[in-house]
Amino acid sequence: MHVVDTNFSFPASHAFIRACQEAGIPRNRDLNGFNYEGCDLFQVNQTPEGRRCHASSSFLNPVLHRDNLTVITHALVARILFQGKRAIGLEYYPLKKNKRLMTLSAKKEVILSAGVINSPQILQLSGIGPGGDLEKLGIPVVHDLPGVGRNLQDHPDVIIRCLDKSKTSFCTSPGPHTLKFLSRYFSKNPPFIFTPTDAGGFVKSDPSVEIPDLQLQFAAIRMQPHGHGLLTPARFGFVLHVCHMRPKSRGRVSLRTADPFDPPRIEPHYFDDEFELDALVKGVKIGRDILSQPAMKAFNGGEEVPGPAVKSDREIRHFILEKMETVYHTAGSCKMGVDDEAVVDPELRVHGLESLRVIDASIMPTITGSNIHAPTVMIAEKGADMVLEEMR
Ligand SMILES: Cc1cc2nc3c(=O)[nH]c(=O)nc-3n(C[C@H](O)[C@H](O)[C@H](O)COP(=O)(O)OP(=O)(O)OC[C@H]3O[C@@H](n4cnc5c(N)ncnc54)[C@H](O)[C@@H]3O)c2cc1C
Repeated sequence: MHVVDTNFSFPASHAFIRACQEAGIPRNRDLNGFNYEGCDLFQVNQTPEGRRCHASSSFLNPVLHRDNLTVITHALVARILFQGKRAIGLEYYPLKKNKRLMTLSAKKEVILSAGVINSPQILQLSGIGPGGDLEKLGIPVVHDLPGVGRNLQDHPDVIIRCLDKSKTSFCTSPGPHTLKFLSRYFSKNPPFIFTPTDAGGFVKSDPSVEIPDLQLQFAAIRMQPHGHGLLTPARFGFVLHVCHMRPKSRGRVSLRTADPFDPPRIEPHYFDDEFELDALVKGVKIGRDILSQPAMKAFNGGEEVPGPAVKSDREIRHFILEKMETVYHTAGSCKMGVDDEAVVDPELRVHGLESLRVIDASIMPTITGSNIHAPTVMIAEKGADMVLEEMR
């Protein structure tokens, strides 16, 4: 996996970094370093040739030719099979052909990596989870493990959106910078290394906080959360994401039915602990302060969201409660540990069972204080080492 510097960004992104400094937030040239407080352009997962890289292009594609590897896609794992307490294989439905239930047997062990929502779903479908809940759905209990699906965490996020009076941000009506963006996008030389939220950093919501608990992500694009509205009204603008990175609230993933095709129930319980709501109120004020600094004067053409009518702390709280969004950083629903709520042990083996591990973001006991993809890759590498070590 390659982590490289971006080599394309819009003028407003550079102005944002200057504005952060004017607001007292230091520039930090290594936001992935030990001290990650401060602001700068973000680094991205791309190859030095400018191709976007991800877990499968970096780890799976290079070894697809191996004789001891078979990849089955378009398949839905229904449940893990057990002999007593030992995992011996799984059942799955091929989704493209006949949807007839198929079985795979495991000689050594089963490794579950279905992610934070689906790993606890598959465990529960297989009879591993809160015994009483499983019995109510008619699922035979293989092992009563109350922590499965609990401890769900995520980073809540809100955006501040402004118009860009300099008209230098990305827009569907072809301004000079949009044309430059498109010509760089299609050019191979030099390679185009870019992410829409290219500038930002980490700040403390309050000086009393020990380590940064807020992430700022700036994008010189007038977009709405999840990229919605990217291609709507052709007006120039920019957004600042304010995201809380140290949530104390804990949610849950549980089964609605015993049917593996039914999505599970997801209860994120955002803001159960008022702590992160208070921090986000402070975060919106910090964001507004940055966007009103002299460096942003040539760009800031007025705040659209939350908008000038939202002034007091009460109004900002209300705005956050209405408009908060996920940034899809879920973690923690099969947590590693040795306490009563732990699902896997420090070797990622499911407590109370044999030959079954969970290796994905669900095993994080506490969500990381930044984006979680890179830490998940680290968990996978460490997990792979532990599997190999045991084989030896
Ligand atoms: C829209 C979006 C944007 C994101 N942006 C960022 C970002 O910018 N930076 C960042 O750090 N993180 C980001 N994340 C989070 C990051 O992608 C995840 O943290 C990471 O992928 C978690 O890895 P994982 O291996 O735990 O799970 P996943 O990557 O979700 O892998 C689980 C796999 O299991 C498969 N699966 C699930 N159930 C079954 C089943 N029953 N049968 C068969 N297969 C199954 C899924 O199809 C999937 O391929 C984003 C996530 C989303 C959804």
